[in-house]
Amino acid sequence: MGRLVDGFGRRFRYLRLSVTEVCNFRCTYCLPDGFSKSGPLDFISPIEAERVVRAFAAMGVSKVRLTGGEPSVRRDLPEIMARSAATPGVDKVCVTTNGWNLTRQIDSWRAAGLTNLNVSIDSLDRDAFRRITGHDRLGSVVAGLDRALAVGVPTVKVNGVLLRETADAGLDAFADFVRERPVAVRFIELMRTGDNAEFFAANHVPGARLTDWLGARGWTRRERAADDGPAVEYTHPDHAGRIGLIAPYAPGFCDSCNRLRVTARGQLRLCLFGELGVNLKDLLERDEPEALQARIVRALAGKPAGHRLHEANSGDTRQLAQFGG
Ligand code: SAM
Ligand code: SF4
Repeated sequence: MGRLVDGFGRRFRYLRLSVTEVCNFRCTYCLPDGFSKSGPLDFISPIEAERVVRAFAAMGVSKVRLTGGEPSVRRDLPEIMARSAATPGVDKVCVTTNGWNLTRQIDSWRAAGLTNLNVSIDSLDRDAFRRITGHDRLGSVVAGLDRALAVGVPTVKVNGVLLRETADAGLDAFADFVRERPVAVRFIELMRTGDNAEFFAANHVPGARLTDWLGARGWTRRERAADDGPAVEYTHPDHAGRIGLIAPYAPGFCDSCNRLRVTARGQLRLCLFGELGVNLKDLLERDEPEALQARIVRALAGKPAGHRLHEANSGDTRQLAQFGG
């Protein structure tokens, strides 16, 4: 079976697989009113998840990220991790989580084969964290991250959304946070989605706010490795960890796109901000690996060159919890 290459010569080795649309947090920019059910919650089963991962791995994907919604609300998440880790060709099993129950869950995830953990923390100020997420759990999330380092998860990162509220005041705390911890904190520029237009207008700050701050304090840009994602990272001689920026509005951001997405309802999404998905669910249910790979390859020909966020066009993405951010 062919490799995953699109019409612009981009090669895809990275799959982001959403396992649920459900989330227990109410992040201001994502689900400010909390998750509300629309349709049955019949998300992909562990065996269907394995079939997705097998199909992509057979075509050269080696890195799988489980996301959501909040993936850790699924009790069978360790099983999905283990099935992904056991798939020939897969060498990185990653999860992106809000970390709400990480202290209790991380040992079983590590045992299931987790290699890369991304924990979302937008602020290290307890009140700001509570305001942003709707939950007073900063202490427990950080304890979970430290437990992940202690049990030897090979790569631990923090995702933070760059918000007007936290952009200036909060950066010192993150620099302190990575003084001793070998953790990369990556700030994502706030993205406009179908549901957050007003919030976006009031809270989006350009990534230059972060890079100017770093430059003024002696942080220097790190050489990029061949398989690096879209983050540009900075290091400092006095800090064990790194600080980086993911700037989806930067020119050329999509040129190095290396990822494809499958939603919790078994739809292939060619772009996070695209229109419609390609249904894979029937082939997952029936276990038809060859037809599945053929459908994915055919669909890839229609992958657009880039998103259209600059034109305030978020496709049919109402919020990122819907398809897996
Ligand atoms: N619930 C998990 C979490 O928060 O880590 C996984 C899903 S969440 C949609 C994945 C990532 O997308 C999180 O780091 C979150 O902060 C980020 N995100 C969500 N909405 C966003 C937006 N509008 N702009 C930028 N990042 C966003
Ligand atoms: Fe939930 Fe993650 Fe969205 Fe926050 S960003 S509401 S934790 S899905």
